[in-house]
Amino acid sequence: MKLRICHLYPRELNIYADRGNIAVFRQRTGWRGIDCEVVEAGLDEAIDPDAHDLFYLGGGQDRDQALVAPDLVATKSDALHRAADSGAVVLAVCGGYQLAGHGYKATDSSALPGIGLIDADTVAGSDRLIGDLAIEVELDGELQRVVGYENHAGRTRLGPDVQPFGKVLAGAGNDSESGYEGAMRDRVIGTYLHGPLLPKNPWLADRLISWALQRRTGRVPELEPLADELEAKARQVAIGRAGRRSG
Ligand code: GLN
Repeated sequence: MKLRICHLYPRELNIYADRGNIAVFRQRTGWRGIDCEVVEAGLDEAIDPDAHDLFYLGGGQDRDQALVAPDLVATKSDALHRAADSGAVVLAVCGGYQLAGHGYKATDSSALPGIGLIDADTVAGSDRLIGDLAIEVELDGELQRVVGYENHAGRTRLGPDVQPFGKVLAGAGNDSESGYEGAMRDRVIGTYLHGPLLPKNPWLADRLISWALQRRTGRVPELEPLADELEAKARQVAIGRAGRRSG
């Protein structure tokens, strides 16, 4: 068994240590004796939709997104659509989430193209939505709280072909009005949660690992439980902080 990850634009899209999500995939597979291969794909590099089962796109500031957006459309969009349509996992965070949608109208009013992997549109507002964010997520019939940190000017509106990733418990989420956070279709998830996201949410990390392995093997893998006491404490602290933000 091997988890095959493609890390897109590791140099350009890595705000708030989003690269830490990759470290979590490596560590949680390593602890269980599962191989983990991470291939990086930067500007001008084509990707093979069948060579990876999990594609990761981190967050970035507007100027980083401007650098990446045309390249994403030109060299990676078709492959990502093919991968997503055949059950690959895509996790896109903040700036990456916005570019996975139809596009982002940035703070300076420039229009950055997206790849339409997620039916959503983002327009920058006049202020930034910043702070701890807690949401409630249901995946495979299991309800869990997921927590992280948000810092974005973009307001994201979802179209009919996606569902929200979660419901906001505390914080702003997609646009501070809808009560929703992120977007989801098949096994593609877009979210505003940084921090990075996965160290504090091991349940989500394992769900994504499981989906990716399942795409390769056709079977739901048995993932051995891990001692997640530290992760649980970090999560509780973040949930507490998010609660105080809304209160
Ligand atoms: N530039 C985007 C925004 O401000 C994304 C920021 C981010 O990835 N943190 O909305």
